[in-house]
This record gives sequence, C-alpha cells and structure tokens, in this order.
Amino acid sequence: MHKTENTDVLIVGQGLAGTMLSYHLLKQNITHKVIDVPKIGHASRVAAGLINPIVVKRVTKTWQAELFYPYAYQLYQELEVKLKTKFYYPMSISKLYGKDDHQFWQYRNAKEQLDDYISVVSRYDLPEDIKQPYGYGTIKTCARLDMATMLDAYRQFLIKEDILIEADFNDDDLVLSNEGVGWNGLKAKHIIFCRGAFDEHSRFFKYLKWNNTKGELLEAEVEGLELDTIISKGIFVMPIGQQHFKIGATYAHHWSDLIPTDEKRRELLDKWKRISDSSLTIKEQLTGIRPTLADRRPVTAFLDATPQLGIFNGLGSRGGLMAPYLAMEMAKNIT
Ligand SMILES: Cc1cc2nc3c(=O)[nH]c(=O)nc-3n(C[C@H](O)[C@H](O)[C@H](O)COP(=O)(O)OP(=O)(O)OC[C@H]3O[C@@H](n4cnc5c(N)ncnc54)[C@H](O)[C@@H]3O)c2cc1C
Repeated sequence: MHKTENTDVLIVGQGLAGTMLSYHLLKQNITHKVIDVPKIGHASRVAAGLINPIVVKRVTKTWQAELFYPYAYQLYQELEVKLKTKFYYPMSISKLYGKDDHQFWQYRNAKEQLDDYISVVSRYDLPEDIKQPYGYGTIKTCARLDMATMLDAYRQFLIKEDILIEADFNDDDLVLSNEGVGWNGLKAKHIIFCRGAFDEHSRFFKYLKWNNTKGELLEAEVEGLELDTIISKGIFVMPIGQQHFKIGATYAHHWSDLIPTDEKRRELLDKWKRISDSSLTIKEQLTGIRPTLADRRPVTAFLDATPQLGIFNGLGSRGGLMAPYLAMEMAKNIT
C-alpha cells in the first residue's frame, strides 16, 4: 500500500504509448505516476522499430504521414539528449524492385508527388549477397527506433524521479469518484490506459472492436553482410550492427499462445531466400501482440460516461511513427 498521494494523472502501461504520454505530460508540467509490470506478449520490446511514412506495397503516404513523421523525427532525437542514450538511427529503405516495380514507382510518384520521401531511380549498388536483378528504389525518410533501449532508459528515469510504480494493475481496484479516480492510496484526476493488447480484456474497453495481431520476427546473423540500409521485399531486413539483422515480420489474426511457431519461421526464411542466398544463423525468434482496432486507427479518447478514464491504444504496426504526435495531442487535451 502506497501512502495517500495526489497526482494529476495515472498512466497504466509503460510500453511505447505510456512512455510517450508520460514524457509529454512531463513537458506540460502535469504530475503523474506510471504503473507497469512487464508482461509476456507486450509489443514494444519485440518490435523491429521501423519508422516508415510510406506504404511500400501501394507506394503512398501512410495516414497523417506529414504530421507524424517530422514530429517523431524531432521528438526521438530530443529524448535521446534528455536520456543521454542513443536509440534513433535514421536510415533509408531499399525496396528491391520486382519486374514491373520501377514503372509502378514512377507512376505512383508522378501521381502522388512523393519526391520528398522516395527516389524512384533504379540503383544496383547493394552488396552482392543481395539479389537485385531489377535494381531497387529508395524510401529516404525512415529510421530504426531501438524501442527496448529507449524504454529501458526511460524506465530508469521514471524510477529516479519516483514516478514508476511496479504493480500489476487490476481494474477492480480502481475507485471512481466525481473528482477523479483512486487506486492503492493514490488519487488522480484522470487515469489513462496504455496497456496495448492487454486492454482488450479490460471491462472498460471490451466494447471496442479489437483486431489484435500476433507478430513474429527473427534476430539473425549473416556472416560477412554489412548493410547501412533496410532491405524490403515482402519482409524487411534491418541491420542492427555487427552483421546482425531483424527480419520480419509476420501477421496472424488467430493464435493459441505466444510461443514462436515453426510455420512463421519457415515463412520468414522462405522470404529471406528471395532476397539472398547467404545462410543466416537464427539467434532468436520473438513474438508479440500488436494492439490493433478493426478500423486500424489509433484511439486517444476519454470515455463519455466516465471522462476520468482515458485510453491511448491501437498503435498497430506503426506505433513508432504515430505515438509521439498522438501523445502530444493527448497531453494537450488533458490540460
Ligand atoms: C513482431 C512485431 C513487430 C513490430 N514491428 C514494428 C515496427 O517495425 N515499427 C513500429 O512502429 N511498430 C512495430 N510493431 C508495433 C509496435 O510494437 C506497437 O505499435 C507498439 O509497441 C504498441 O505499444 P503499446 O505501448 O501500445 O503496447 P505494449 O508495448 O504492449 O505496452 C503495454 C505495456 O503495458 C503493460 N501492462 C499490460 N497490462 C498491465 C497491467 N495489468 N498492469 C501493469 N502493466 C501492464 C505491459 O507489460 C507493457 O509494458 C511491431 C509489433 C510486433 C509484435
């Protein structure tokens, strides 16, 4: 039991959503506590951390890319300075062209004016381990966000500032009042749930149309392969240093457990073979659940009947791109 204490906001969950929200509350001088316990299946510590404002398949901007991308770029670098930790690596994507892709990219670029984001020029200068019979086009505005490193560094900061409470939050322990909420000796005006896919099972959010997906990816070593760009062809191959790569990711709408599957490992290895004949050594196969709603849009909202309760969720497969801007907006709404 914590001593009775007042704070403006309680955040439940310190994944990407909770971390971004906490940082923006801090910037607005809004007092808060973050309640979190690491759970198996949470997304942010598994994610590859690809930041990409272009839908590769359709060669079009992602939803709100003009807002999300520049803000994310600036915010992560600002946070790196604050936490004195490196976790944001600007990097291009090299999309290996198939037979007709070059023409398709030219057509899409002419139609959507994507010159600030992509270069359609067909280049052939990747390392020879990479199959590039039709060359590759470039998405210039991308990055690798090392989410696990960022989350760890931010957690240390929260501990130092006495903001983190390590506890497994149970909805039944929450007390609602006209003034706000009470939990475990703490009183706050608002509580914002950032529990990712775990919020699907909350009695407060059961009515949302959830469509979470299980994702799997590989961490692997490819001896002799050095890349300074992310390769894309059906899957992405993202360099993380010392000839190690994240290779992913898969999607499944139905699953019985969070154990990595042979089926998805084979799927990723088959796609790798379309990119390279080099053999790879799998170091780890990771799984997590992407918190996703049926309309595939994020949700930042307070409940009509109980506006003390809010949710920041539904970051899906592009959380890294969207979370900073959405957290900034939500923090503004709280003030
Ligand atoms: C395989 C895979 C690959 C991905 N690749 C990318 C990518 O390349 N780029 C990208 O942008 N996104 C990617 N994503 C998606 C990204 O991970 C998510 O959009 C984002 O991390 C979601 O963050 P979140 O904070 O909403 O949820 P989570 O990361 O799941 O965080 C929820 C937090 O709440 C905690 N929690 C849950 N219940 C409780 C409780 N009762 N009490 C206390 N704490 C609780 C959890 O332990 C966790 O810390 C990927 C996801 C997967 C699974």
